[in-house]
Amino acid sequence: MARLAVVTGGTRGIGAEISKTLARAGHVVVAIYARNDDAAQRFNDETGCLIRRWDVSSAEACEEGMGRLSAEIGHCDILVNNAGINSDNSLLRMQPRQWNEVMATNTGGCFNMTKSVFGKMKERRFGRIIHIGSVVGRAGAIGVSNYVASKAAINGLSKAIAMEGAPFGITSNVVEPGYIDAGLIKNVPDKILDRIRQNIPVGRLGTPEEVAHAVMFLADEKAAFITGVNLMVNGGHHLGV
Ligand code: NDP
Repeated sequence: MARLAVVTGGTRGIGAEISKTLARAGHVVVAIYARNDDAAQRFNDETGCLIRRWDVSSAEACEEGMGRLSAEIGHCDILVNNAGINSDNSLLRMQPRQWNEVMATNTGGCFNMTKSVFGKMKERRFGRIIHIGSVVGRAGAIGVSNYVASKAAINGLSKAIAMEGAPFGITSNVVEPGYIDAGLIKNVPDKILDRIRQNIPVGRLGTPEEVAHAVMFLADEKAAFITGVNLMVNGGHHLGV
């Protein structure tokens, strides 16, 4: 059955692949982005998926944006909270601004977007909410305390949403990628990437398609009995961590 899917950060990197995969399955996809109009326009030209620009760290922007979208197109059935940023520094150098912006986007974005669709999902007694976490939210990592905390918080938030949503046919789950050859990882120096690869039993980085496949699984109508779980997509990286 064709559904309306909203993918935050759905115009670039892993999110773009999630958008494309959902669209190929027949869903109407709206990809949300923050700043990069050129990338969003290229994505729109290439895929035909709808694009909308707003900042998921703003509760007002999410309420207003989703309100407009509902009136124009319909209510959101599948929400993929994928938008994420990093702003790295060692603990002692980490500025409050860096902490706040990463928490506000990565965790706050999941909360704001979920809140803006949850009421209608409850009324319509269907919803699939999928948050994109990270292996480091479980394992920790050096120099990214803000990012690690933001991803660990998503794990708890998802479980709370799962419990509130369960009586209404709404599921909430986390897809937890390991190191994926796309997007944010492009800033990691090759030397460090080589070391990371050695710790991944499968021996390589993941692909955006592999993350999108996990999202599709949880978005399916038949995934109704799966809620409050974390699905790791990391080539076995969590083993022995
Ligand atoms: P990218 O940097 O490639 O893409 C990020 C996307 O999020 C862009 O579309 C960007 O929009 C959007 N975005 C950023 N901030 C906001 C905001 N405030 N409001 C709305 N949209 C926003 O990231 P990746 O594809 O690498 O990461 C996607 C997700 O996967 C993130 O949650 C990340 O933490 C997670 N992840 C990534 C891993 C990796 O190895 N790449 C590993 C584990 C998890 P714009 O184009 O306008 O900037």
